[in-house]
Amino acid sequence: MYGIYIHIPFCSSFCVYCDFYSVTECNKTELYIEALEKEIQRRKYDLEGAPRTIYIGGGTPSLLSMEQLERIKSILERHFDLTEVEEFSIEVNPDDITPEYASGLRRFGANRVSMGVQSFNDENLRWMRRRHTSEQACRAYGYLRDAGFDNISMDLIFGYKASPVSDEEALNIWEKDIKAMTALRPEHISAYQMSIEPGSILALSGKYTEPSEEFCQRCYYTLLDMLGGAGYLQYEISNFSLPGFHSRHNSSYWERIPYLGLGAAAHSFDGLVRSWNPSDLKGYIANAEAGWGEEYMEILSPDEALEEKVMLGLRKRVGVSLSEDEYRRLLPQINRLSAGGQLIHDTERRHIALPRESLFISDSIIADLLM
Ligand code: SF4
Repeated sequence: MYGIYIHIPFCSSFCVYCDFYSVTECNKTELYIEALEKEIQRRKYDLEGAPRTIYIGGGTPSLLSMEQLERIKSILERHFDLTEVEEFSIEVNPDDITPEYASGLRRFGANRVSMGVQSFNDENLRWMRRRHTSEQACRAYGYLRDAGFDNISMDLIFGYKASPVSDEEALNIWEKDIKAMTALRPEHISAYQMSIEPGSILALSGKYTEPSEEFCQRCYYTLLDMLGGAGYLQYEISNFSLPGFHSRHNSSYWERIPYLGLGAAAHSFDGLVRSWNPSDLKGYIANAEAGWGEEYMEILSPDEALEEKVMLGLRKRVGVSLSEDEYRRLLPQINRLSAGGQLIHDTERRHIALPRESLFISDSIIADLLM
């Protein structure tokens, strides 16, 4: 069993915080789908078994027409056995969702939609250069519900200030964002802290100053309190769901289950080897036309594999179990961190997990553990 990820690297404009690989050359979508088909033909036997999840992400997959999405689906059907697929997700932007498009997505076969909302405050949305308003996001959500989607995920971003307001005012706006989100009651919520990524507009502008760690921490624990109070279960540092609605596809990344990443900039993992396509649309299309693909790969050493297992496993609230060898190797650090209350430790099961208080500083605790 494995997951399929398809990257659609097109956006009609760039959001200020984004460093995902995307381009605005939307006139190349047809050539891109042809190149995707060639990559699928070439790599369809890379992983054994049948796919259990499909995730079409981006970029902005909802920039594709329904005809183009249908074409991608029929290519997948021709080359893979899709009878075992439990979860079929597609990312959308609110400004692309009309009643017709929402119904089309349902007919297309997606059973989960992930919509990038980010905020319900129009001033914040303008500052982020999102292409939608709060009202549009709510309307799009309604269209998706009307079309029959009963598994909708929405994203929020916290830990930024769109204008020079006080911490209290910014926190107030953040609480309103969370309330607006829980009032809609999507089955799944992802919430990420904004960070200044090197290639983003924010970083390139050189003018933005990040808010204090203390403010970001208050935002994070406000999120945990409010979502917990509204019945959402936190199953990963940044992900929450109503019972039973965790993302199967994304969970497989944290559990190191193999996945096949297709398209420019997509990453794959076969259980041992990680590989990725270059972030280069023109190169991706040209190589496909020439009948080959340019992939990079690395085989993780046992130490690197352990690091990755711990880093990904501790993102999950349930934590991660270690083998005897792994446990013995990390035991001095495990003992030190658990004595300080920064790690939960079950000796019998050789299991470690982060307590709630450590979640916001998980990166430094994981680094400490792997020292
Ligand atoms: S955040 Fe999403 S919509 Fe915005 S530029 Fe990045 S990929 Fe495109």
